[in-house]
Amino acid sequence: MSRRDVIIVGGGAAGFFAAINIAEKNPSLKVTLLERGKEGLQKVKVSGGGRCNITHAEFIPQELIKNYPRGEKELLGPFHQFMSGDTMEWFEKRGVPLKIEEDGRMFPISDSSQTIIDCFLSEAKKHKVEILYNHALKSIQKDDDWILQTSQGDFTAKKIVIATGSNPKIWNLLQDLSHTIIQPVPSLFTFDIKDERIKNIPGVVAPNIEVRVKETDLQSEGPLLITHVGMSAPAILKLSAFGAIELAKRGYKFEIEINFIKQSYEDCLNELKELKQVLAKKTVSKSAQFDLPKRLWHQLVLASQISDEIRWADLNKNHLEALASQLTKAIFHVDGKSTFKEEFVTAGGVDLKEINFKTFESKLHKHLFFAGEVINVDAVTGGFNFQNAWTGAYIVSQNI
Ligand SMILES: Cc1cc2nc3c(=O)[nH]c(=O)nc-3n(C[C@H](O)[C@H](O)[C@H](O)COP(=O)(O)OP(=O)(O)OC[C@H]3O[C@@H](n4cnc5c(N)ncnc54)[C@H](O)[C@@H]3O)c2cc1C
Repeated sequence: MSRRDVIIVGGGAAGFFAAINIAEKNPSLKVTLLERGKEGLQKVKVSGGGRCNITHAEFIPQELIKNYPRGEKELLGPFHQFMSGDTMEWFEKRGVPLKIEEDGRMFPISDSSQTIIDCFLSEAKKHKVEILYNHALKSIQKDDDWILQTSQGDFTAKKIVIATGSNPKIWNLLQDLSHTIIQPVPSLFTFDIKDERIKNIPGVVAPNIEVRVKETDLQSEGPLLITHVGMSAPAILKLSAFGAIELAKRGYKFEIEINFIKQSYEDCLNELKELKQVLAKKTVSKSAQFDLPKRLWHQLVLASQISDEIRWADLNKNHLEALASQLTKAIFHVDGKSTFKEEFVTAGGVDLKEINFKTFESKLHKHLFFAGEVINVDAVTGGFNFQNAWTGAYIVSQNI
């Protein structure tokens, strides 16, 4: 049996960040990272479309936590210890400058996730972290020390960090250690919608809409993207994250109501009546209003039974009411979900009630720590999921 001081299980974002920081702070400790794959950091590699959206330019903890459907309350304290600004500083100090994009997402200036991987590999080497690839954890036992059985032999360690992401096998092992696992469901997905109004306009973006799921309290706002199979972009992705559990219960079949212009039906109707006077001789379908993209406007006009040749002056009461409805309370039937390829996560994991958020240590077992997606924390898209990994891993490192 091979003995180590600290073993980190899982060579992903959280595992590497924990291992490097532990080794850097405690050069005398023998720190080993076990990774089941022949390489680590595979999600980092593909993250953010290969650019790695590493964190988000939100520097107020109270605001930052609002992006976590699961973990909001628990992460407030941890973010006071290590958050986006610290992430930025950490990487910049190690030769990886970051940039902030218009929507707040932060990426390495290189626009390549490989820069992050190279940084982690060189830092791990510098601080003498032992990385053992092709070592899959098979069982965890507690004696005086922890005993870890892997696909390539057994190890003991005084302290262990579980950073295996969303892995059901590890959740089963943790259940055997009496931890409660909140059942996993997907988060961050796009909505499948078959509807005449959006069938022929993939790629169209409505810049700022409001959307709510009928018969629930779920609602969100932001940009909307029409895709080949339905709808995506932050307005939808936020709903998928905050509604992950509720929408799974409904088998991903539900109705949404969209307000494309963020105005009340009444205000919209009044504005349309004014436009009828002002634009009298113009063709309705060709004169897009409310800053809507032309192709979307055209489809909403057609859905209001206003044919292509009709001019504003020809609109009757029914037309005006139908158009106001399409603009402010259009109903769409969602029938399934699709993967959002830039980022996806799993809701569920180790119950947050069983973790001490001052240390990220298990409340049930001393010297058992967690970091990253293995715990029941997940976030909306934008770099917040990695921030959870960095924060947890950093705090673990401080407490080891
Ligand atoms: C396509 C995609 C793109 C994404 N893009 C972004 C983004 O741009 N920004 C963002 O914030 N988030 C993004 N995310 C989410 C983010 O990648 C995760 O939240 C983050 O990787 C979680 O880190 P982790 O270390 O907890 O888990 P992981 O990164 O999943 O790492 C877990 C590691 O543990 C290893 N492991 C599992 N089981 C065992 C075992 N039994 N023994 C040994 N090792 C094991 C795995 O092989 C893996 O290497 C993206 C996710 C996906 C899928």
